[in-house]
Amino acid sequence: MLHYILSLDQGTTSSRAILYDQDVHTVATRQKEFRQLFPEPGWVEHDAMEIWESQLTVAREAIAEVPGCISSIAGIGITNQRETTVIWDRKTGQPIHHAIVWQDRRTAGFCKELTAAGHAHLFQSKTGLVLDAYFSATKIRWLLDHVDGARDRAEKGELAFGTIDTWLVWNLTGGKQHITDVSNASRTMIFNIHDLQWDEELLRILDIPVAILPEVVESSGQLGITAKDVLGAELPIGGIAGDQQAALFGQLCTRPGMAKCTYGTGCFLVANTGDVAVQSNHNLLTTIGWKINGQTTYALEGSVFVGGAAIQWLRDGLGFFSDAQESEELAASVEDNGGVYFVPALTGLGAPYWDQSARGMIVGITRGTTKAHITRAALEAIGHQVNDVLETMAKDRGGAMKELRIDGGAVANDLLVQFQADIAGVDVLRPANLETTALGAAFLAGLGLGLWSMETLETKWKKEHTFQPQMDQKQASSLKKQWQRAIERSKGWIVE
Ligand code: ADP
Repeated sequence: MLHYILSLDQGTTSSRAILYDQDVHTVATRQKEFRQLFPEPGWVEHDAMEIWESQLTVAREAIAEVPGCISSIAGIGITNQRETTVIWDRKTGQPIHHAIVWQDRRTAGFCKELTAAGHAHLFQSKTGLVLDAYFSATKIRWLLDHVDGARDRAEKGELAFGTIDTWLVWNLTGGKQHITDVSNASRTMIFNIHDLQWDEELLRILDIPVAILPEVVESSGQLGITAKDVLGAELPIGGIAGDQQAALFGQLCTRPGMAKCTYGTGCFLVANTGDVAVQSNHNLLTTIGWKINGQTTYALEGSVFVGGAAIQWLRDGLGFFSDAQESEELAASVEDNGGVYFVPALTGLGAPYWDQSARGMIVGITRGTTKAHITRAALEAIGHQVNDVLETMAKDRGGAMKELRIDGGAVANDLLVQFQADIAGVDVLRPANLETTALGAAFLAGLGLGLWSMETLETKWKKEHTFQPQMDQKQASSLKKQWQRAIERSKGWIVE
C-alpha cells in the first residue's frame, strides 16, 4: 500500500522534510539550517550545493525515522523559497556561482534603467509583476554578465537556469529533468502568465538566451521520478509550487474569493481569483497559484513588511515583555487602544502604500497611555495593515473576500485574530495544522499521484476555530478612519 507523501519545504533559512501519512498526520519532521551569505551590502547569496545537501539530508533522515516506509511512499511534493536564482553546468551539475537570493538588491539599478526606458508597463502586463530586483530575471542577467564565459556557454546550451524547485528536481532526478512549475515560473519576470510561455520579447529586452530555461510543467501530476540512489527508491515527484502558492493550496483556498494570510515577521496575503488574471491598479502582484489538469488558477498577492516583527520590536527594542506570547495578556488588560495608533513602518510601507520613506510612528499618546495601550495598538496595526491589503484586493477584483484563512506564528494570538475579523468584517478561519506550506506541497503531490481526490482533500483540511466579526460596523469604520489618519502622518517621513 502506498500511503506516505514526503514534502520537501526548501525555505530561505532552512530546508525541511515532512513525512505525512494517508490521513495527513505528520509522522516525521526534519529541519536543517544553511548559511546566509552577504558578500556586499544589499547582496544575499546561498550556496546552491549547500541547499541541495541540506535538503537531501533532511529527506533521508525523515525517511529513516519511519523504518521500512520507503516502499510505501507514494511520492514527493516540493515547495520552495521563490525567485532565488541558480545557474549551473548541465554536464557537471556544478553551479557557476552562488545562488542569488530573492532579497538581493544588486540589480535594483538595472531595474531602474529598465523602468526609465519605459518597460515597466510591458513587464507588468505580461508577467503580473512590478518591475523589481526581487524577481529572477535581472538576477539571471547579472550572472550572465558577471561570470566569465557564462553568456557564451549559455547560448551554446551548456548552462541551465532554475529557481530552487528546478534545482532540487534536477538533483533528485540525477540531472535528468530540467523543469519548473507554473507558480515558480510566474515569479521569474520572463514568464507570460496569460499564454503560459517564456516571453520572447522580454527575453530579448533582457538578453537572456532561451536555451538556459527549464520546461514549464503543471503544479500537480506525474512530474518526474527521482534517481534510485538519491533516496533509496525511484519516487515520483507529484507536486511543485512556490511557498506562498503552496500555502494557499495547503489552506485549500481553491475557489475564487478565498484568501490566506501568513502572519510571521511580515504578513503575506494571497487571494485566489480563479481563472482570471486580475491586473492590479494598486501595485499588488498578479501571479499563478497553480495549474492542475489543464486548469490555471490565478492569484493576487500583497505583502506587509512588518507584522509580527512589530511585536518582536516591542519585546527586544523596548523590553515590554520577554516573550511575544505575553503581548496578548498585556493588550487584553486594557479595554481598548486608548486612542493610541502605532504605524509599524519600521522599514517603510509595503502594499498598498509602497512608501519607502515612511517610518514607524506611535500617535495619540496621553498622560494615561501605558505599555498595554501601545501593545494593543501594535496588534491592531497588524490587523489594519492586513485589512488594507484585503480591501485593495477587493477593489482590484471587484468583490470582497468571502473568508480569510490564517497561519504563521502570530495567529496563536486570539486577540489579534479577533481584531482581524472585526476590522475586516470577514470570518477568519484558523486551521488545526498551521504548517500550511509543507501541507500544500503534500496536497498537490497526493492529488497528482492519485492518493487523494479533491473531495478527500476537503476533508483533510481541519478548522480549529472560526473568528466571526463581533464589532459593530460603526465602531470598525471609525477605527479604520483614525488608522488612515495615522498612516498619512507616517508617509514621506524620511527626507533625502
Ligand atoms: P517567520 O516564519 O517569519 O520567522 P513565524 O511564523 O515563526 O515567523 O512567526 C514569528 C513572528 O510572530 C514573530 O515576529 C513574533 O513576534 C510573532 N509572534 C509570535 N507569537 C506571537 C503572539 N502570541 N502574539 C503576537 N505575535 C506573535
